[in-house]
Amino acid sequence: PYNGPSASDLLKRRREYLPTCLGPFYHNPLNLVEGKMQYLFDENGRRYLDAFGGIATVSCGHCHPDVVEAIVNQTRLLQHTTVVYLNRAVIDFAEALASKLPGELKVVFFTNSGTEANELALMIARLYSGCHDMISIRNGYHGNGAATMNATAQNFHKFNVVQTGIHHVLNPDPYRGVFGSDGLMYAKDVQDIIDYGTSGRVAGIIAEAIQGVGGVIEVAPGYLPAVYGIVRKAGGLCIADEVQSGFGRTGSYFWGFEAHGVVPDIVTVAKGIGNGAPIGAVVTTPQIAKVLTQRTYFSTFGGNPVSTAAGLAVLRVIEKEKLQENAFMVGSYLKDRLSLLMEKHEIIGDVRGRGMLLGVELVKDRELKTPAKAEMLEIMEQMKDMGVLVGKGGFCGNVIRITPPLCFTKEDSDFVVDVMDYAMSKM
Ligand code: PMP
Repeated sequence: PYNGPSASDLLKRRREYLPTCLGPFYHNPLNLVEGKMQYLFDENGRRYLDAFGGIATVSCGHCHPDVVEAIVNQTRLLQHTTVVYLNRAVIDFAEALASKLPGELKVVFFTNSGTEANELALMIARLYSGCHDMISIRNGYHGNGAATMNATAQNFHKFNVVQTGIHHVLNPDPYRGVFGSDGLMYAKDVQDIIDYGTSGRVAGIIAEAIQGVGGVIEVAPGYLPAVYGIVRKAGGLCIADEVQSGFGRTGSYFWGFEAHGVVPDIVTVAKGIGNGAPIGAVVTTPQIAKVLTQRTYFSTFGGNPVSTAAGLAVLRVIEKEKLQENAFMVGSYLKDRLSLLMEKHEIIGDVRGRGMLLGVELVKDRELKTPAKAEMLEIMEQMKDMGVLVGKGGFCGNVIRITPPLCFTKEDSDFVVDVMDYAMSKM
């Protein structure tokens, strides 16, 4: 049993000693004490089904024994920097990670987070192209460093500090975007930005195949192939931010970009690749990677043995337990059941996503698509009270995000949908 401080005591001290820029999600914040696969346990031993763990770190399941074992074994053996010494952990994971990527994408730079991975990717594209102008998509989230905050395109994630060189293009959002699902029309905006807003040459584009923080919005079909062509013609590189959509989460493919038939020049990953161990990575081609040899570039703990041992264990678990296939089968079932809920609840404006990266957008009116933000918070609160944790997202904060650990089952999906159904029925 848990003997530690209570949730109210922790909240009081958190308010005193931690910054308040992001409060806990719930009215009565949960004090999480333990995690096991798709479950979380609070201070009273109450169990919650975690349908949101995927955003943080969890791909295989909380405290997956194979990953814990890899971390513990490596921690006992050696934890150090791998910048100036050889060590097998970093090389083994780099090789395994590269083997999951197409074409010449096989040089891996390790970082400690998604932000750092994208900062590095943007710098590489700028160095390689000799251009500063870069394109990102409105409503995207890429991190909160100097360059990545600039690439991120939602005002509540931006501070008023110098951010230069990024041009934000129309969001190819099939639900709310001006051109609906017509990817080619949105792609024209990229050409316009290059023609009218730059010298005609750009460093590249950074894009998520499915916007996560932005409310689980998959870019319109046809958009990425067209845009990759336009950007490459203007001398730029194409960066796929796979921090949320990578590592088997979308089910049908290992990477989000694969569903769009493109091969990026640079891929960035983080979050789920360590199942909780802080790690990120930039993967690119040997030719592009060479730009960093002009100077010394390193990260003390990027690629440290403990995080990379965790990463390798995660890849093995995904393969051994067929988690990508599970994400496809269970995720498709979950999405179908959520879609059926639309017939019953007017408040659901859209159900979307792939595999275990799903979103349910709530609206007050299906025609006007007025965001139902307060209702969304109420539903989330009620679902928590019934033992299910989901996330919120989207520019208007009206999208329920469902990103469970990839070990989620059909029964878990039924429980999520039944609980959501009940919460909506009580509105
Ligand atoms: N890219 C995407 C798509 C993300 O969702 C996030 C985090 N929400 C990041 C980058 C930044 O990752 P981190 O928080 O690890 O810096």
